[in-house]
Amino acid sequence: ANRNQTGKKFAIYTQQIGKSLETTEYVISNIDKAIDKGWIVVYYQPIVRAISNRLCGMEALARWQDPEKGMLPPAAFIEPLEKSNQIWKLDLCVIRQAVHQIAAQSSSGIAEIPVSINLSRTDFLSCDIFSEIEALVKAASIPRYMLHIEVTESTMTSKGNGVIETLQSFREAGYEIWMDDFGSGYSTLNLLKDYSFDVLKMDMVFLKNDSHRSRNIIASVIDMDKKIGIRTLAEGVETAEQVAFLKKAGCEKLQGYFFGKPQPFDAMMKNWRAKGLDIETAEQRSCYNT
Ligand code: C2E
Ligand code: MG
Ligand code: MG
Ligand code: MG
Repeated sequence: ANRNQTGKKFAIYTQQIGKSLETTEYVISNIDKAIDKGWIVVYYQPIVRAISNRLCGMEALARWQDPEKGMLPPAAFIEPLEKSNQIWKLDLCVIRQAVHQIAAQSSSGIAEIPVSINLSRTDFLSCDIFSEIEALVKAASIPRYMLHIEVTESTMTSKGNGVIETLQSFREAGYEIWMDDFGSGYSTLNLLKDYSFDVLKMDMVFLKNDSHRSRNIIASVIDMDKKIGIRTLAEGVETAEQVAFLKKAGCEKLQGYFFGKPQPFDAMMKNWRAKGLDIETAEQRSCYNT
């Protein structure tokens, strides 16, 4: 009986590995087709200004809507595409759609909601990411401050790919730079000492851990950010209790399932309006970003 059980477990185990290996190979060899056919779609997750409860931004998150495999989450394709040096294709596809979304908002007269996009470490090596994004932004005639560039700590600490110089070019051109998943990587404080960026996104691990100690870490990061002139966003906000705590601690922006999961743009806006909450105007935004 014992041997059977082990055998069964092993079978399930290999099945899962087999499945994920198959998916990995599939995405590596089909990314061009997926982009071509429009299978890469962008979901948007609301970002909220803590003191006003207004929608002040949204994060663009990639989904692979496969006609046969169904909806693939980033966990299924980001890493394989990074490892095969193809993530830049997906990222530019997402950015192109995000830029069009921003342009469509301004021409339809509804409030202009800035969009945060994610870059991978290899984007800085695989292509001239600055020129590529500049070309998309110029072609759509959108202001650069409407696009926020998210990079993780590990991207910023990776050596020899010109990341720091390229981020500096983005910043000088007028894009905001946001540090993603802060606290989940290495060299965190070192980075804060040497480089400036606009917003620090605190990783959700600190909120998930509901201890006194974690709460004190969050409050201290918010205080530190204020002292060095960086704005703080808390990721993974799921409960009203967390919202209350973060507001009290002085966190500027909130993002998480409590306010909305990532969804297609129209669904995201519909759900936002259904809550009866406002959207921040450009004028209101300018009061905060000084
Ligand atoms: P991220 O940039 O840190 O994005 C936040 C992730 O946390 C998203 O997962 C989002 O759905 C999830 N999330 C947001 N609020 C909550 C919450 O309250 N609770 C929980 N449990 N999760 C929450 P998603 O969409 O699966 O994306 C995962 C990661 O994949 C992203 O992490 C980002 O690193 C990467 N990614 C997504 N889209 C792109 C893209 O277009 N390009 C690149 N290079 N990476 C991407
Ligand atoms: Mg992100
Ligand atoms: Mg994050
Ligand atoms: Mg992440």
